[in-house]
Amino acid sequence: MPETSIGNAWRRASQRIGRLDARLLLERVRGCSHADLIAHPERSMTEDEASRFEALVSRRAAGEPLAYLLGSAWFGGLEFAVGPAVLIPRPETELLVDLAARRARTLEKPRIADLGTGSGCVAVLLALRCPQADVTAVDISAAALEVARANAARHGAAVRFLEGDWYAPLAGERFDLIVSNPPYVADGDPHLGMNGLPFEPRQALTDGVAGGDGLGCIRRIAAPAARHLEPGGWLLMEHGYDQAAKTRKLLSEAGFREIASWRDGAGIERVSGGQRPPDVDCLPAA
Ligand code: GLN
Repeated sequence: MPETSIGNAWRRASQRIGRLDARLLLERVRGCSHADLIAHPERSMTEDEASRFEALVSRRAAGEPLAYLLGSAWFGGLEFAVGPAVLIPRPETELLVDLAARRARTLEKPRIADLGTGSGCVAVLLALRCPQADVTAVDISAAALEVARANAARHGAAVRFLEGDWYAPLAGERFDLIVSNPPYVADGDPHLGMNGLPFEPRQALTDGVAGGDGLGCIRRIAAPAARHLEPGGWLLMEHGYDQAAKTRKLLSEAGFREIASWRDGAGIERVSGGQRPPDVDCLPAA
């Protein structure tokens, strides 16, 4: 293989995957900074670096998300490890964390549960922003929990991780706040074939119900939620761009009050939630 300079490799890759992605992959392969790339474009790459870079550029050109190729993504100002076992954190999910942190800060020692934690980004950020809180994170995927545990350790966040299906590992437990970014994309949504989503765990994106409305998991979280909340406790769930009204209806059917939706940075109703009434016995059976 002819000797390749960094500058040439960067230029050629930029034509395939864009300048920024090419740069970030090159920095990863070389273990260097942006400044190094700019200052020494004439430096040559070893054969091994050139072939590793070429492999990453080809995967990116085939649609694999940059975060999986880099092995990390930024969320709430922190870098989280990510891999194909977990959904890549999305900026709009910071709304869920902001709303939860605002509520948690009004309580002395709140107990918080994060259902379907994935990479752990929501639970870890909450634990760091609300050090007085007791944070529990649940996921059905052992592989996801491994990533989430590593992220908690990386950021020094005290989070209790439990494996299981939604409330299954939380029998008999009550919380002041339940948060979740569940799978909510409808099974047949064309979006699932775009923007790198085919590379993400399907289990983290859809409820698996063929021809369904994507709200299966939101229903499963909302219906029994009151029984896992303290009186006056809150449930906050992220949902799809067109699911706010349906989610509010589900919350209302589950007996919640003070039901509301909040808009993300793009102006889309992205999180809905409500408060558990003080007397849970008046609620319809779960
Ligand atoms: N917001 C993600 C997307 O539309 C979906 C995340 C989810 O299902 N929780 O790509």
